[in-house]
Amino acid sequence: MINVLIYNENLHEQHSEKVRSVYPQGIHGCLRSFLESDDICVKTVTLDSVNDITDELLDKTDVIIWWGHMGHAQVPDEVAARVQAAVLKGMGAIFLHSGHHSKPFRLLMGTSCNLSWREDGDFERVWVAKPTHPIAKGVKRYIFSEHEETYAEPFDVPEPDVTVFIGGFEGGEVFRSGLCYRRGAGKIFYFQPGHETFPIYYNPDVQTVIKNAVYWAKPDCRLEKLDAPQVKKPGKDGE
Ligand code: ZN
Repeated sequence: MINVLIYNENLHEQHSEKVRSVYPQGIHGCLRSFLESDDICVKTVTLDSVNDITDELLDKTDVIIWWGHMGHAQVPDEVAARVQAAVLKGMGAIFLHSGHHSKPFRLLMGTSCNLSWREDGDFERVWVAKPTHPIAKGVKRYIFSEHEETYAEPFDVPEPDVTVFIGGFEGGEVFRSGLCYRRGAGKIFYFQPGHETFPIYYNPDVQTVIKNAVYWAKPDCRLEKLDAPQVKKPGKDGE
């Protein structure tokens, strides 16, 4: 069983009729609906309950999925630090769309994570740049979204281990849309699609990618703690 924790700030859904009409159960509710299965157990947290993200909960979480935008600053620094520490110990993390500016993602990347953007409802093709990668399994040449917020380079993140997807927009902009990282014992995937006013998370290809990313990011092993144990000088017997 893979334990997935979905954090969605759930603010746009409360403030905007348009977003509520796209995601009546909240973005977290939509993500839950296609992830929950015989081998994936989902728990959700919103900004209202963000302090529920304790070390104890993170110890039991295999993969955290993060959707945030207008409420990034309201996430307590302690919570972001806990998420960062849990990733370093082995927890997987998937940051969606505007999660590029979330506190835990910026902590894990160590850069501004700034990008260029405009909101004109362009179409987007998310091109598969690495068809052999497990996160791209089942996706054809590209994922098409009729309308998406335009995210564009430069994207101020460290050079990824793998660029699985590259987005191309109607206006000609390009963006590294699907990026894999390792930090400590944990795996991180950033995935760009998912502006709140468009029904992106209902797209079966987008759902496939997020599901694949959960299986990819689940821990290989978990470190008990981050501080290095004191070691003895090695003996001849290999002890
Ligand atoms: Zn957006």
